[in-house]
Amino acid sequence: MMNELDDLYRQVILDHNKNPRNFGDLDPHTHDAKGHNPLCGDRIELFLDVQDGIINDIKFKADGCAISKASASIMTTVLKGKTLEEASQLFDEFHILVTDDMDAEPDTEKLGKLAVFSGVREFPARVKCASLSWHTLKTALDNKDKVITTE
Ligand code: ZN
Repeated sequence: MMNELDDLYRQVILDHNKNPRNFGDLDPHTHDAKGHNPLCGDRIELFLDVQDGIINDIKFKADGCAISKASASIMTTVLKGKTLEEASQLFDEFHILVTDDMDAEPDTEKLGKLAVFSGVREFPARVKCASLSWHTLKTALDNKDKVITTE
């Protein structure tokens, strides 16, 4: 059963890597940031159009491994239409999902498609690939320094 689940998750990741959703420039946009994971060489650029506290639109450009690109792609599909508060909660959920040491099964109902990244917990080097887009999101919304690195 666990292997079937892993296969399903792997297929979702490969699909989003091959056909990334919401890929490209977003003009005009209200928020943007760049992220870099030097450990793997992943780079991402994120654009958001936030209106009245709601993520009206979100797009990204990325150059990197399958996990980093799929994570950014899935993140954009999950965040579109969400409030900033919901986005912040999802950031926390995702962080727990990929870093939690416990063997707890992911709450797939709450996480939806994000649950496909539960497997990266076992590969610490991959956690940074999977979380790069989320850290870039946080930077974009916080409007801090526009370039982040996972190091
Ligand atoms: Zn990577």
